[in-house]
Amino acid sequence: MPAPLHKAPVAIVMRRLAKAIDGLDEPAVEKISRDQKEDAFQVLIATMLSAQTRDAVTAAASERLFKVARTPGTMARLTTERIQRLIYPVSFYRNKAVHVKAACEQILSRFRGRVPDTMEELLTLPGVGRKTANLVLILAHRSEENICVDTHVHRIANRLGWVRTRTPEQTEHALYRAARRRWWPIINLYLVTWGQNVCRPVYPLCPQCVLADVCPKVGVTRVGKLVKES
Ligand code: SF4
Repeated sequence: MPAPLHKAPVAIVMRRLAKAIDGLDEPAVEKISRDQKEDAFQVLIATMLSAQTRDAVTAAASERLFKVARTPGTMARLTTERIQRLIYPVSFYRNKAVHVKAACEQILSRFRGRVPDTMEELLTLPGVGRKTANLVLILAHRSEENICVDTHVHRIANRLGWVRTRTPEQTEHALYRAARRRWWPIINLYLVTWGQNVCRPVYPLCPQCVLADVCPKVGVTRVGKLVKES
């Protein structure tokens, strides 16, 4: 029997996932970005709303908000209370409403109404961390220099043995060394889609996973069973 791998080869994983995610639901922000023609402002706001929130809730809240306001100017004129009501029940909707309004005001006053296209400037906006900034740079500004790491990417990159890290930010920096540049902009799409459907936080579906033969399954102690539809 071949010795178990300590690290799944990145190219094999990415090529297999390219086929395997075909037909699965794509992450909410990716869908919003595609539907809105990579509009940087809507990608920014949807990503801010998506933190620790289920995709269906993010999609519905974004749709309600964008029906009322689609630009920094119109959104900045909404009261915080109105934004709260529109985005409820996303997690931390009160804080997010405050950040959304403040970010719109700063985009208007400091960036002439345009969403910045550098990490340094994006990080100066209220409520914007590296995950949000990276996703805006990748999806809206078409950067090929960034990797967006959320909890799915952090978890799966560790299970695959690509990195050994404790936080998403450590994972982002380690992935720049572990993966070739060509994979950087799509790591998020592939691993988030896989994480929502197969490599779930608890009870990942390893027996059904297309990566099972190459994945060292670091830290996985219990796996789940696929529930077949009748
Ligand atoms: S589901 Fe299991 S085999 Fe597949 S990537 Fe996750 S840990 Fe590896």
